[in-house]
Amino acid sequence: MTERRTEPPQASESSLKGQRGHAVPSVGTLFLGCIADDFTGASDLANNLVRSGMRVVQTIGVPSGPLGVAVDAVVVALKSRTNPPAEAVAQSLEALAWLQAQGAQQIYFKYCSTFDSTEHGNIGPVTEALMDALGTDFTIATPAFPDNNRTVFKGYLFAGDTLLSESGMQNHPLTPMTDANLVRVLQAQTRRVVGLIDYAVVASGTDAVRERIAQLKTAGVGMAIVDAITNADLMRLGPALKGMPLVTAGSGVALGLGQNFGIAPSVEASQLPQASGLKAVVSGSCSVATNRQVRAFIAAGLPALAIDPLRMASGVDVAAEVLAWAGPLLQNGPVLVYSSDESAAVKAVQQQLGAAAAGALVERTLAAIACGLVGLGVRQLVVAGGETAGACVQALGIMQMQIGPQIAPGVPWCFALLPLSASAGAAQGLHLTLKSGNFGADDFFTQAFTVLA
Ligand code: ADP
Repeated sequence: MTERRTEPPQASESSLKGQRGHAVPSVGTLFLGCIADDFTGASDLANNLVRSGMRVVQTIGVPSGPLGVAVDAVVVALKSRTNPPAEAVAQSLEALAWLQAQGAQQIYFKYCSTFDSTEHGNIGPVTEALMDALGTDFTIATPAFPDNNRTVFKGYLFAGDTLLSESGMQNHPLTPMTDANLVRVLQAQTRRVVGLIDYAVVASGTDAVRERIAQLKTAGVGMAIVDAITNADLMRLGPALKGMPLVTAGSGVALGLGQNFGIAPSVEASQLPQASGLKAVVSGSCSVATNRQVRAFIAAGLPALAIDPLRMASGVDVAAEVLAWAGPLLQNGPVLVYSSDESAAVKAVQQQLGAAAAGALVERTLAAIACGLVGLGVRQLVVAGGETAGACVQALGIMQMQIGPQIAPGVPWCFALLPLSASAGAAQGLHLTLKSGNFGADDFFTQAFTVLA
C-alpha cells in the first residue's frame, strides 16, 4: 500500500508542485505511465485511476522536463486520434520515452471507449510502435467501460443496447465507426495477428485469462481484443495484466490495475482546491449525448448561444460576438456556447467547408471563446468534445492538471494553474472538466457545477 495524503491541497502554485507533503519522487516510483490519444480520453482514464485509489496528474502533451510531483500514475494527453498515423506514432513514442525517463513501470495506451479511429488507424499503428519500442510481442486491447455502457462481447463493441455501428458513431464528424467487430477493425490497422479473449474465458477468472494469453502468444497472436461486460470482468482481468509491459484499452481496464500495485480506493485521491469564480460551458461535440445536454440546458431556461460555422468561415468575428453576449450574463450563473448540432446540419457544413477544415475552424473559434471567457473571470469551465477540449486546453496554455472528483462516469473535475497571461498577472487556478462527446447524463452541464459546489 502506498502512502496516502490526508490534507486537502491549497489553491496555490504548490497545488501542482510537490503537493500533499510528498517529496518530489525519485525515478522508479511511477507505477503507471499512460498515453492518451485525446484530452477528454486522458481525463476519463485519469478519473478511473483516481477511483482505483491512485494519485494522478494529467499532462497536456509531453512535458519538457521531469514531472516534479509525487503521483502513482501520469496520463500524457496527446491530440493524436485523428492525425496521420506517422504523426500519431511519433507523438506516442515521444510520450513513451518521457514516461520511461520518469521510471514508469507499466505503459497504458488509452483510446476511446468507442474505439474511434480513422480509416488508416491510429490504434493499430500506435500499438504496434509502442510494442516495438518496448520490445514486447503481446498486448491486449479493449475499450470496454461498463459504467458508461460500453461492453465488448465476442469481440463486438456495444454502446448501450446497440452495436457501435448503429449507435450514432457511424455519423461521427471525424471518426465514423461503421463496423462493431473490433477484431476486424484492429486487424485492418496492424500487421500483427489480432485474436480474441472471449467472455467465457474472462468469466472463468484471472487464471483462465492468463492461460488464454499464453495460448495466444504460442499461436503467434500479437494483440487480443478482450470481452468485458461488467466491472467484475475488469477486476478479474486486472491481475492477469500484472507485469505486461504495455496495456492498450479504453479507461475501464484502469479500474482493475491499482490492485497490482497494492493500491486500494481512497477518498483522498480525488481532493482538489476549493472552487470559485464564474461558470461557463463550451461545447463543440456533436455527439448524441451532448446534443441532449445542450437541449436540457436550454430547457432549464439557462442562457445559451449557438455559433454557426458558416458565419465563422465568412470572416465574422464570432468569438467577439459571443464574449460581448456572455459578459453581462456570467454574473447570474453558467452560460453555454455551442456549435453542437445534429448530424444532418453538420454534414451540410462539412460539404461546404470540408470536414477537416470545418472541424479546425470550429475548434479554433471555441478555443478563442474559452480563452475569452477565462479572461472575463470564468474559473469553472466545462468543455464538451474531445477535439474541442484539446484545442481549448492548448489555447489556454495549460500544461498539467490534477485530477479530482467524478461528475459522471469517465468525467472528473480537474484543477490547473493558468499561465500568467491568462490570469491577468497573478497565479490563479482554473477548475475545468473535459467531457467526451457521448458521456454524461442529460443534465450534465448543470450537474457538473453542483458537484464542484
Ligand atoms: P466528440 O467528443 O463528440 O467526438 P469532438 O470535439 O472530438 O467531439 O469532435 C467534434 C468535431 O466536430 C470537432 O472537430 C468540432 O470542431 C467539429 N464541429 C463541431 N460543431 C460543428 C458543426 N456545427 N459543423 C461542423 N463541424 C463541427
